[in-house]
Amino acid sequence: MDFSLTAKCYEKVEATTKRLEMTDLLVDLLKLTPEKIVDKIVYLTQGRLYPNFVNIEIGIAEKLAIQVVARATGKAEKEVREDLARTGDIGETARIFLAKKTQATLFKSVPLTVAMVYDDLDRIARASGVGSMDKKLNLLAGLLTRAAPKEAKYIVRIATGSLRLGIADMTVLDALAIAYGGGKEARGILERAYNISSDLGTVAKTVAEKGLEAMKEFKVTVGNPIRPMLAERLGSPEEILEKLGNRCIAEFKYDGERVQAHKKDNLITLFSRQLENITDQYPDAVELFKKGIKAKDAILEAECVAIDVDTGALKPFQELMHRRRKHGIREAMEEYPVSLYVFDVLYADGKDYTLKPYPARREKLQEIVVEDARVKIVESLITDNVRDLELFFEKSIESGCEGLICKSIAEDSVYQAGARGWMWIKYKRDYKSEMIDTIDLVVVGAFFGRGKRAGTYGALLLAAYDPDDDAFETVTKCGTGFTDEDLAKLPEMLNRHKVTHRHARVKSTLETDVWFEPSIVIEVLGAEITLSPVHTCAMNSIRKGSGLAIRFPRFTGNYRSDKSAEDATTRHEILEMYRKQLKRFSGSR
Ligand code: ATP
Repeated sequence: MDFSLTAKCYEKVEATTKRLEMTDLLVDLLKLTPEKIVDKIVYLTQGRLYPNFVNIEIGIAEKLAIQVVARATGKAEKEVREDLARTGDIGETARIFLAKKTQATLFKSVPLTVAMVYDDLDRIARASGVGSMDKKLNLLAGLLTRAAPKEAKYIVRIATGSLRLGIADMTVLDALAIAYGGGKEARGILERAYNISSDLGTVAKTVAEKGLEAMKEFKVTVGNPIRPMLAERLGSPEEILEKLGNRCIAEFKYDGERVQAHKKDNLITLFSRQLENITDQYPDAVELFKKGIKAKDAILEAECVAIDVDTGALKPFQELMHRRRKHGIREAMEEYPVSLYVFDVLYADGKDYTLKPYPARREKLQEIVVEDARVKIVESLITDNVRDLELFFEKSIESGCEGLICKSIAEDSVYQAGARGWMWIKYKRDYKSEMIDTIDLVVVGAFFGRGKRAGTYGALLLAAYDPDDDAFETVTKCGTGFTDEDLAKLPEMLNRHKVTHRHARVKSTLETDVWFEPSIVIEVLGAEITLSPVHTCAMNSIRKGSGLAIRFPRFTGNYRSDKSAEDATTRHEILEMYRKQLKRFSGSR
């Protein structure tokens, strides 16, 4: 098949903004395409050579493309660059320069076929190592010298990742349904195949070669990412419960990066929410999954969250962003360790779980996930009660999560691959109280450290002063901000105040490893003050059954030895800070 037919179609697609017209043009192109290269046409039309999850990209930088055009047309790079500054489109510049050359030489080349273009682009994409830039330059320049001007325009655009025809996945599916499935009604079947394989090219080739019936046999396969199920959003527990049939499973909504883990024997592949292969980015998560999945073959979904390994505390999303890098991956892994919070199973030991209701998937998760300090099944609560949901929500926020994802546990609660639906409903805050000032809190208890902090304390239980009762009310657990030197001296400093059980003046619902008489005061800065069903500070003042807590607390390094325990920040001050700082929360990230 001549590439000129493809270029002609692209030209027409560019001239319209109407989706229906685009679909028709694509149907015409598909009908001209031999079945065995339908996948190639589909990938090229989306400006790539493979599905998203295959890490092979052509990736010709604009600078190199300028050299290519100059080489292929015998012009100076400077001229090409000047024209590019005018057109803003390296493809268009290539077309213009090639048109001039063709006129001058009256050169008529042998027609380029789709296969030739695809294969050369593939060679360009795969060239690596020493001399690869020259190889890429030669290959692309060679293609252009054989291309008609219009063809060159699209070849260069594909090579530089700037084809941008605006043909969405759904338009391709519509076109496939019309061209090979007997009409648009067939789209549902094709869409399901796409949602469980994320590979439009293979879907296209299969339906072209084997027909619609074969699509029903399309299977979930380890190695092919499944398009993620997404959540709708509601603003209150009442609405959520009503929408989910008055009973649901609520889960912490961890604030990290979604990963889909594919396990085949002992090989783990990780995909991002955008279905890119991110295995190399998380060597630690790969190891955790290897140990954490009992099944031989499986596809699981988890949230990968930055943590403090010594205390197990969750860290904010921003911390995890340090892991998004191409170089220094090992260093970043040491500095920003992660834990995995597993929330779904889509495939296990030869069985597709996507069409099973959520309770059955949960059961399977319990069976195949081996939990430890760094791999956990998400925290959850099955409830039909608004109040319990609200308290669970507060607990999630205080633990460093974003809120809850409430999920249907009804018969029809299947995994809706690729869809945002009402089976999952997220509940996040529409407000946020920011903490600006530091506060001085009393150390009333401590938890033993793990890892690097073995032998010292991992986190301290801190309290505010209640002058009315002459008591101390817990407000946070703090394990961040301590230097190695701080950690070394903590036991000695605190153990002088050790008591065998909770001090009578300390109000706490938490159990600690060690209790102290309230006396040491330290300065702390937090991200915000939140409601908490766990901490006793200002209990029942804002809401019945809830106290206040400091989220993401950090020791500033100041020991307030100038203060006695009774000089610590009071519950009234914290309440006042909460009220004052409560302001509209302008959306989520
Ligand atoms: P978008 O709504 O555009 O997807 P988002 O990426 O912030 O925005 P949300 O819909 O807000 O995602 O929430 C769904 C995301 O929450 C999932 O993609 C997943 O990364 C994350 N998540 C955290 N905990 C859970 C959980 N227990 N179950 C499902 N998803 C969870």
